[in-house]
Order: sequence, then structure tokens, then C-alpha cells
Amino acid sequence: MTIRNIYCVGRNYVNHIKELNNVLPDKPLIFSKPTHSIIKANNNIINLPANKGIVHYETEIVIKLAKKYSNKETLNTLVSEMTIGLDLTLRDLQQKLKNRGHPWLLSKGFPNSAILGEFTPFYKESDYKEKLFSLFINKNKVQEGKISDMIFNLQFLIDYIGNNIGLDEGDIIFTGTPAGVGTLNNDDQLSLMWGTQELGSCSITFS
Ligand code: ZN
Repeated sequence: MTIRNIYCVGRNYVNHIKELNNVLPDKPLIFSKPTHSIIKANNNIINLPANKGIVHYETEIVIKLAKKYSNKETLNTLVSEMTIGLDLTLRDLQQKLKNRGHPWLLSKGFPNSAILGEFTPFYKESDYKEKLFSLFINKNKVQEGKISDMIFNLQFLIDYIGNNIGLDEGDIIFTGTPAGVGTLNNDDQLSLMWGTQELGSCSITFS
């Protein structure tokens, strides 16, 4: 299935909001990325922009729509697959854009800024609430989270995006990052984990 729209959720974990000194939202913060930002992590080398300031990783659960959104259906039938992804961010540039009140696109939409593991079946949100997802860099765990720590759960996010923007088959949603975001470095070896299952791996180079 081709990926259509890429939606992302900002500030969906309390511990991440605190680490960036942001304010707790009363509604989800939604932004999007262009489809050319997508790259699969499949034992490859992923190239990122050099000389644009630091690139932060944000490890996130990514869900994929199996069909057109309808508020008469629930996540159980609307979503059939998920993976772990990295929402990469040019953090210095993002801060400058935020200071000017500008959109984030330049800092979030660059080539290869949406890294995806292999999609895997996903059925009921309640089955996965305590399942840990994590990112390992050079064999060290740097980030870990779980659905039960989200401010807005997956059903809420689907309804919010579906009702306000629209969702259809092939759309994906990056559902926000927990605390522990950090900087990527040249030659870092990344491993995207869903529980004990590795859904993707890659190494990073800058040029
Ligand atoms: Zn993010």
C-alpha cells in the first residue's frame, strides 16, 4: 500500500513536553511532512543534511489507515498496521522558526526526515497499551515509551485528525515522542524496537 499523507502529533507525552519547556496542550498539535521525507530503515545507510545544525531523533509509534475515516468506526477497524518511526527534526532551525512564529516545515520536512521500520499488524489499542517501544543507538537504549503514557490516545488522535482534516487508506500518523530526544551523529547505528522485536535498523551519515 502506498503511503499517502503523513500526519504528525507534537507534544503528546508529558515527560517530553517538560524536557523542551513546552506548555501542556488542551488539543493535539498536528503537523505534516511531505511524502518524499519517507525512508525505510532496512539495514541501509541513511543520509542526513550536514551544516544545518543538530538533527534530533524522536522515536514514535506510527499507525497506518486501512480505509477511509468514518466517525462510526473505531481504531480497531480503521487501523490494521503500525511500525516504529523516527520523526527527525533540525532542532536549531525549529527553534528559530518557532521564535519567528513560522511553520515548522523546513525543520521537519527535509529529505529522509521520516524514517520508518517495517509495518506489522495492529489490532486493538487496548492490547498494546503497556508494550514498550524504544530506540537503540550503538546498542544503547536512548528512548522508550508506551501508549498508556500518551496525553491523547490513538483513538482520540484518529478522531481529531479524521474530523478536522480527513484520513483515508494509506495515510500514516506519527503519534508523538516520549522524553529522551537527542542528537544523531555520523556513523550512529540505529535500531527501532517494538517490544523485543526489531522493526528496522540503519546507520546514519551526514553530507
Ligand atoms: Zn515528533
